[in-house]
Amino acid sequence: MKDKNLKFEEYPLRVPTEKRTINKMESLIKDLEECGSALTAKLAVKHWNKYMSELSTDVGVISVRYSLDTRNKIYKNAQDKVDELSPVFSKYSNEFEKILLKAKYRKDLEKLYGKYLFKIFENNQKSFDPKIIPDLIEENKLTSKYDEVLGTAQIEFRGQVYNLSQLGKFMSDKDRETRKEASIAMDKWMGEHEKEIADIYDKLVHLRDGMAKKLGYKNFVELGYIRLGRTDYNAKMVKGYRDQIRQEVVPIAQKLYKAQMKGLGIKDPQSFDYNLKFLSGNPTPVGDSKVLVGHAKTMYEKMSKESADFINLMINNHLMDLDARAGKAPGGYCTYFSEYKTPFIFSNFNGTEGDVNVLCHEGGHAFQAYLSSGIKIPEYQNPTLESCEIHSMSMEFFTWPYMNLFFGKDAEKYKYSHLCDAIEFLPYGITIDEFQHWVYEHPNATHEERCAKYKEIESINLPHSRYDYCPTMNKGTRWMRQSHVFGTPFYYIDYTLAQVVAFQFLAEDLKNHEKAWKKYVKLCKLGGTLPFTGLLEKVHLRNPFEEGNVKKNIHPLLKVLKEFDTSKF
Ligand SMILES: [Zn+2]
Repeated sequence: MKDKNLKFEEYPLRVPTEKRTINKMESLIKDLEECGSALTAKLAVKHWNKYMSELSTDVGVISVRYSLDTRNKIYKNAQDKVDELSPVFSKYSNEFEKILLKAKYRKDLEKLYGKYLFKIFENNQKSFDPKIIPDLIEENKLTSKYDEVLGTAQIEFRGQVYNLSQLGKFMSDKDRETRKEASIAMDKWMGEHEKEIADIYDKLVHLRDGMAKKLGYKNFVELGYIRLGRTDYNAKMVKGYRDQIRQEVVPIAQKLYKAQMKGLGIKDPQSFDYNLKFLSGNPTPVGDSKVLVGHAKTMYEKMSKESADFINLMINNHLMDLDARAGKAPGGYCTYFSEYKTPFIFSNFNGTEGDVNVLCHEGGHAFQAYLSSGIKIPEYQNPTLESCEIHSMSMEFFTWPYMNLFFGKDAEKYKYSHLCDAIEFLPYGITIDEFQHWVYEHPNATHEERCAKYKEIESINLPHSRYDYCPTMNKGTRWMRQSHVFGTPFYYIDYTLAQVVAFQFLAEDLKNHEKAWKKYVKLCKLGGTLPFTGLLEKVHLRNPFEEGNVKKNIHPLLKVLKEFDTSKF
């Protein structure tokens, strides 16, 4: 057992070597092959899981260290090694799982581990074959290329040079002329890089379509779902769900946008105007990261005993790196080291409300990882991605009573803005999702056709979009800035599904906090022992795929919105 008080910087950096790793995996596979009963296989699985836990922890430590300091040569080399080896590791896990699936004692193992584990294994088999390893390596390269193009963007604006996220701040500036100029600068940069980014995407689409065909699928849609571990829903159900959002949420979002523009006194709104919520400016947290972490400590300590223990572990063991620094990778994430049973939160604070969101959203992910750490079967520790986002997005609402800590007098303004954003996100989310379905169903479409399709879908779901000063955006290129479209196809609707479920948590929390919190903790502790719809059923949450449930979850929030006195903002 590892030392519980070990700090992150004391975690050793161990770079896996190809020969040693393969030898070890081959010998563990051989041990399993020799098993004649569930009893002996149980031990072989235990040994395999132990080794996988060590390996994934080593890989995780490398990846975090590298993202903290991308200019460090040792970390860079270690990360390159891992990128190169990971498809090879998949080959061996695939072999191991195949033996378990075909074992004559499988029924006994199912009794031991549950049937769902074997569903996960079957799903993994369907998405992999050694013959697509070169394609997978190429896919990794192309998505890294996309990250690089966007991550290294240098955009000139008013005599200075900014990256995309820095420029984003000006796009929501209080001054309309600043918003406009910043948006034009962004659009100009996009125009200059449109061809390069479009080429990367075109290659990715053809590569993925090719892999799907090699594995025997009609196109990439089904394979995309399998890769995301979706065993309980399909593209048809997702379409039905998108239709519910279109019917129920699009009109509500449009009303919110209208009210926002009325409040700002803008008669001919452009897309960049919607970035600014209030004439008095967007809510801004008071204090630097040290102050905010201090507030997060107070908040999680007050919330419950479990969350108090959690936040103290995160702080005492240095499991959060939040400040933006030169050389640090962009963005934010939460990860988990299974050998140490510890989560880790990575972020780039920039002094906006987004900083508080990290402490609540990524905090929710980390809290779930912490609560699920007792689950013995590694495949059951984390659920599929849409369920993971329930943990984080619901935590964003459970933290509402503590927002005065972070925002002072702006607390109510923040909550109102948070809820509006959450509702307005849904029409955008389904737009990205519908677009991707079309793309993979029409893999030979040209870039122009893709953009035209995006624009068509956007005009239905987001009819307020106007890009009169931004010719590149006006062509229907908004999707090119959405990294999920490149990195993980069909992983975007997940955020909307989770958001709809989190709305139910908000409504229930406002009604009866004790009951809602208990339900939330239960869901977190269930980890990935069930698929998405199974988890919902287990804790009595509405399934968004069922007709009428989106309406049921959204309806109570309209009352919540009305209770805010927006004249004070
Ligand atoms: Zn998240």
